[in-house]
This record gives sequence, structure tokens and C-alpha cells, in this order.
Amino acid sequence: VSSSNDAIISKSLEGIISSWNIAAENIFGYTAQEAIGKNITFIVPPELLKEEQAVINKIKNGQAVLHFETERLSKDSSRVSISLTESPVKDETGKIIGASLIARDITQRKQAELLIKNNEARFQAAVAAVEGIVWTNNAKGEMEGEQQGWNALTGQSYEEYKGYGWAKALHPDDVTATIEAWNEAVRKRANFNIEHRIKMKNGNWRPFSVSAIPLLNPDGQVREWVGVHTDIHLQKLALEEQQKITNYFHFIADAMPQKVWTANTAGNFNYVNKCWLEYTGLGFDELMDWGWAKAVHPDDWEKTKARWLESIDSGINFEIEHRFMNTAGIYKWHLSRGLAQKDEYGNVEMWIGTNTEMHYIKQEEQRKDDFLKMVSHELKTPVTSIKGYVQLLLSTYNEKQEIPYSFMETPLLRIDNQITRLGKLISEMLDLSRLEAGKLNLQKTVFRLDELLQDTISDILITNTHHEIIISQSYACRVDADKNRIGQVIINLVNNALKYSPENKKIEVSIYPAQNNEVSVSVKDAGIGIDKEHQQKIFDRFYRVSGKSEKNYTGFGIGLFLANEIMQRHGHSITVQSEKRKGSVFTFTLPALHDIKE
Ligand code: ADP
Repeated sequence: VSSSNDAIISKSLEGIISSWNIAAENIFGYTAQEAIGKNITFIVPPELLKEEQAVINKIKNGQAVLHFETERLSKDSSRVSISLTESPVKDETGKIIGASLIARDITQRKQAELLIKNNEARFQAAVAAVEGIVWTNNAKGEMEGEQQGWNALTGQSYEEYKGYGWAKALHPDDVTATIEAWNEAVRKRANFNIEHRIKMKNGNWRPFSVSAIPLLNPDGQVREWVGVHTDIHLQKLALEEQQKITNYFHFIADAMPQKVWTANTAGNFNYVNKCWLEYTGLGFDELMDWGWAKAVHPDDWEKTKARWLESIDSGINFEIEHRFMNTAGIYKWHLSRGLAQKDEYGNVEMWIGTNTEMHYIKQEEQRKDDFLKMVSHELKTPVTSIKGYVQLLLSTYNEKQEIPYSFMETPLLRIDNQITRLGKLISEMLDLSRLEAGKLNLQKTVFRLDELLQDTISDILITNTHHEIIISQSYACRVDADKNRIGQVIINLVNNALKYSPENKKIEVSIYPAQNNEVSVSVKDAGIGIDKEHQQKIFDRFYRVSGKSEKNYTGFGIGLFLANEIMQRHGHSITVQSEKRKGSVFTFTLPALHDIKE
């Protein structure tokens, strides 16, 4: 009795306890001393008093053994679940005088049972709450047992879906892939995920996404599989819609002559348009993520990186001017912008950006700056010089009241010279603005081009005594053109030849018949020459070659632009042939009216 794990108690028919072993003390918390002599009802919960009375009655009536599960109160007021066996105790005459009780503590088992019941209820609640269809398969991967969800979805009966019968509800094109993936998951005991189409009860096909997981026994063996089928019809429609919108966006972006890109929230590029590919000559994959960085000028990279990281971090729009390399390996200035697309909470969803080429604008800005610097310098020099001479004349007049002509001649001639220079500058500027306003009109007359050339050269020679200008070939010919403007072109070409040949001072001018009954005038110098890369650009507005050898020559970069415009208005342009350090030949051509035999 003392070594038993079960409580062994005896009591009289009135319920008075007469023995109480160690296990009883352990289970109910009362010592034998506390329990013996008391009525057993002190450990019976109030609601079970009736049950206790009924048991005693049965014992009194001669019931041999009673076995049932019930609850008792322990000393600390907690409830103890017990399995109880009660049997009658008789005296030597066979009269029933009491009962003996054997009680086993089953509290833990009861708690485990409750847990399982709760878990089952929870599982059922989860199944009900899941929008999908929940099913279970046996360890071998076969559908076993009633699957209400599956039946409701497909209309298949148990006979139809059991085993692998469920596969008959799948779209024929999806069966093989599904069965193969399922078999593999079963073999590997790995999670199973797939999408397939199912024929619903009403005969319609619907796309579903499936996931299943194996439930394992403690020994690692699969006990069963639990899977969920989720209807992804709406999800698919939304995805298709989104794809359509993305396609439209890409279509528009590809049609644009500007570079367009998108990036994810982490700042990794995930799309660039056609213009990007064509400009850089790089492949789509090469430009993704941070691949575009390859095309950024090394000198601009640190600044670009810092700005972009700052934007990704803060969600503040990205804007920078930097250079990108094109297929020819030339870096061109771009204005790059990135706008953060944000959701209703202000979180960045994606970045959309553009890169606009602004190389031409940058160059123009630079040229305009240079031009303004040059103009102020060119205006200031003659004005300072004129002021100096005027002050000299004034101070001399103040002293003498009367100045002899011999003294005045040089200052006045210098002043005149400087005023001519200013006048030339101003008329060039006027021509430029006239040209830009579209008001440079030609006044055509018929005149002898060879004579105009001769006269112009003679005029130039009056003021220029340092160079030798020879007319190496002459050709008598009339043209129908704006005489003043053509004279201006000749002056410009000859003045440039003089200016840009400081050492070899021989200039050769020629007029000769050209193809198609035309006449050409060439001005040839043996000066500093022009590199191939600049030869076409020198006809652009404000363009000046900015090399070491060109630094010492003043000018505005508009002379050739104007001359070429004048010739273009006559239906021709000026051509140049030149070699660096060897010299240049500038030529213009006009239609000849007829030859003149003198
Ligand atoms: P500028 O006022 O600078 O001379 P132009 O429009 O007349 O302007 O000429 C444009 C540029 O072309 C010059 O800055 C110079 O670099 C170059 N150029 C023009 N003519 C010659 C020449 N004969 N020899 C060498 N370079 C020349």
C-alpha cells in the first residue's frame, strides 16, 4: 500500500476515512493525520457531491466494482483529475461495512487531451478562415478520407478523387507537371508549391496556386500531408492588367528620343528604354542594377553615386548634370532626373527617371561665356586707348590753348583706327542679330567679281603693310549677288588669313572657273592651320579653336559664321582645306553669268 503510486483510501459507508496512504498524500496534499477521521466529502467538489452519494448507494446495494473518471480538490484548492476504482469492503459475515478506493492521478493526461481538443478546434477554425480549399493526403501522397472542400470545389465524389483520382480534375496540360512535382515532393518530404488549372463543379476552369507541407512524426517519417488550394483568378487578372500597363509604358518609353529608366526601391535599375541601348551600345542586362554606372564619366561618378544614394535613402527626387559615354566613346552632357513614385503612405514604390542630352546647350553656354569675355575685352581695349589719346589732346590743349596739326595727327589717326575697329565689331554684332531675326536680306546686282576682289585686296593692303597679298590667278567674270556682302566675305577670309599666319606672311588669292559654269574664289595662307576635328565647327556661331597656338589671337568666332551664312543665302557654302601648322585654303563659289573676253 505505501509503495503504490495510486492513492489507496478506505472509508466507512458514511464516508469517514479510515486509511490514507503516501500516494494519497502526494496526490491530494493532505497527510494521513489530516485526512483520517474526516468525511471524504471534504475533497469532493460541490457539484460532484451527488455523484459521490450515488456511488455510495451503489456500493451499499452490492455493486462489486465501480470504475469512473472524476475530479477531486487538493489541499492547494486546485482540481485533480483522477480515474477512480471503488469496491465494497465486507466484514467476516459478508456484510458491507465500507468501501476501498484506488485513485490514479490523470491530470496530465486530461490536460494533454484538452490540448489536442483545442488544437483540433483551432485547426478547424483555421481551415474555415482560409479562403482556399484545405485537404489532407496520407503519407504516401494519396488522397485519403473525406475531403469536403475538394468535393465542394470540383464536385468529385470520394470514389473519384481518392488516391490520385484528384488529378482528373486538373487541366490536361497541367497534369504531368503537377504529378511529377508532387511525386518529387513526396519523395523528398519537401514543401510542395505549384500552380495549375482546375475544372470546377460548374464546368469552368480556374487557376489555383497550391501549397502543401508534410506533417512529420517524431521519428522524421511523414504522418500526413496538409495542402491548400487558393483561387488566383483575380490575382492573375490583376497581374495581366499590370503587365499590360507596363507594356504600354515600355512602348511609349521606347518611342521617345530621350533616355528613360525605372529602378526599384533599393535603387537597382530594372528597365531602360531603347534610347539607352542605342546611345551606350550596351545590352539591357549590362545596364541593369548599377550597370549603367559604366557609362558615367569617371570624373562625375563620385558625385553621381552620392546623389543617387542620398535619393534612395531619403526618397527625395534625384537631379544631376553629368556625362554619359556614347557608342563612339564620346562623353556627352546630360541632365538626369529621377522621380520617386510613392504610395498613399508616402513610401517609395519605384523610381522613374530620364536622362536628357544637353551637350549642345552646355557647349553653347560655354561659347556664350567665352564670347562675352572676349567682347568685353575687345570693347574695352579700343575705348581705353581712345580715352588715353583724348586726355592727351585735352591736357595739351589746356597747356597751349592751340595745338599744331603735326602733334594731333598721330593721336587722331590712332583714335580713328580704334573707332574703325569698334565699328567693325558693332556691325558684326548687328549682322548677327539681323541674321538671328531673319532680317539679313540680300540686295543682288550684277557685278564683276574679279574687280571686287582686286579692289578689296587693294583696300586691305593700304592698312596692312606687313603681309604680301598676291592674286595668283585671275578670271574675268560677272556674278549676280549682293556686292557688299560678298565684299564682306572676302575681307573676312583675307583678314583671317593675315591674322592666323603671323610668320609666313604670304597670302595667295585666286579666282578661277569651277564646274557647272561656276566661279570660285580661294584665299590661301601658310599659317597655323586647323585640325580636322575643328574644320567644320569653325563655321558655327561663337566657335573658336581653343588650342595653344590659337590663344594669342583675338576674335569673337562670328566672322566665319556670318561669311558662311551670307554664302548660304547665295545658295552655296564656304569650304576649307587645311593642315595643322601648314596653312589653310578657304574657298567660296558662285554661279558665273558669263565669261568676258577683254
Ligand atoms: P575669329 O574672330 O575667332 O577669327 P572666325 O569665325 O573668323 O572668328 O573664325 C573662327 C575660328 O576659325 C578662329 O577662331 C580660328 O581658330 C579659325 N580660323 C579661321 N580662319 C583661320 C585661318 N586662316 N587659319 C587658321 N585658323 C583659322
